[in-house]
Amino acid sequence: MDVIDQADIQGKSMCERNTDTHPGDLISTTIEDRGIASDAVDNAVLDDLVVANHILFKHRVVDAFGHVSIRHPSNPERFLLSRNKAPAIVTAADIIEFHLDGTPVNARGRAVYLERFIHGEIYAERADVHAVIHSHASEVVPFGVSQQLLKPVWHMSGFLGLDTPVFEIRDVVGDSSDLLIRTRELGKALAGSLGRHCVVLMRGHGATIVGDALKQCVFRAIYTQLNAEIQMNAMRLGDVTYLEPGEVEATTRSVGSQIDRAWNLWKSAT
Ligand code: MN
Repeated sequence: MDVIDQADIQGKSMCERNTDTHPGDLISTTIEDRGIASDAVDNAVLDDLVVANHILFKHRVVDAFGHVSIRHPSNPERFLLSRNKAPAIVTAADIIEFHLDGTPVNARGRAVYLERFIHGEIYAERADVHAVIHSHASEVVPFGVSQQLLKPVWHMSGFLGLDTPVFEIRDVVGDSSDLLIRTRELGKALAGSLGRHCVVLMRGHGATIVGDALKQCVFRAIYTQLNAEIQMNAMRLGDVTYLEPGEVEATTRSVGSQIDRAWNLWKSAT
């Protein structure tokens, strides 16, 4: 048997294995609840989290996959995240409270996102963070798999700072992982790569974006994706001029005051 035949058979065998033995529960999991729920959350807060799910789908930050959470408004040791569901169809009834270690409080048997450790470990590491978004947006992926850093190219994305860190999962678990943040250890390592930045790219996977409030986080997620698209287009034309540190600071301040305007538009169009 020649090399091509062997590769062909191996390829078919992998496809068959994907179909036969990779059930959905490898990326969706049911965990026993622990503890007592915190004080009830205002409906307006829950509604905003639901709207954020829908906005992020509309702007292609998430598709069937990806998720958005907020830190619990009255209990900083907890966060709120949907059960395992495509963001576009999340409702208030789907929102579950979690401990920062990723254990649910009131899942009541509902499947939870495997990668909830992204959220909990960032909240544990960054007291200033009150919202987290995880995305697989195709626009940002090239900057995680090449040597080209994602950098702010326009005034709408000064929040990126001078460049964007990349999380390399191989540094933590070697080169045979499925690239998913399956454990607290991986969540912690991701939070370490994020450092004090607003965005961390995940090599071969996507990006995670943080904010000190939900609306700011949604704004950053959408404009991170647009920056990636513009930067890629500009790079096709030749050398690119990026924002200087003073411009990063000034644009972050001025654009940051306009987040409600964007949110109100996006909300009205969901
Ligand atoms: Mn993911």
